[in-house]
Amino acid sequence: MSKKFVRAIFPGSFDPITNGHLDVIERGLKLFDELVIAVGRSPIKNQLFSPEERVEMIEELIRQRKMKGVSVESFDGLTVEYAAKKKADVILRGLRSLTDVQYEFQLAMTNRAVAGIETVFVMTSEQYGFTSSTLIREVASLGGDLSNLIPENVLKRLRKRMKKQIANRKSQSVQHPKPSH
Ligand code: ADP
Repeated sequence: MSKKFVRAIFPGSFDPITNGHLDVIERGLKLFDELVIAVGRSPIKNQLFSPEERVEMIEELIRQRKMKGVSVESFDGLTVEYAAKKKADVILRGLRSLTDVQYEFQLAMTNRAVAGIETVFVMTSEQYGFTSSTLIREVASLGGDLSNLIPENVLKRLRKRMKKQIANRKSQSVQHPKPSH
């Protein structure tokens, strides 16, 4: 029996990419012939990195890890429209917990209803079950150690970004001293 070539897209905001996302990508590569990581350009709450920076970090990881059959792009608008443009057969998404299931179930049903595209879910390794980009952004802003949760190249950029933000905050507080009562 001949096996059909399957192309999947893995859409998300990836602000920034975490070890949890990488785990999903590695699992996805065992299932599909080609995987396109699709970085959404739509604005998110407390954005840390621009879509270009997010794509760059993922490109670095693909090169460093010599991943085959993976590419990364940013996209605007509806995921299903992007999937159609890329002639993708399926959407790949990762699951961490039952809370994810509820939201992802709705999203997958909607995407299937409007565009007829299937979503394939993979479950993350237990060690990344609590990792989310939102949490990474929050912990980073408070100076926490994230070395177990994000790859080295992301950690480096994050440290630089945090230093810059702290320096900006300091210079702003010098320029605008609080009025004394
Ligand atoms: P979104 O903005 O839609 O939450 P993300 O960029 O955070 O997108 O995540 C993209 C996909 O990766 C989603 O399917 C999300 O559930 C999954 N994901 C994120 N973090 C993890 C993780 N630690 N383990 C498994 N899947 C994850």
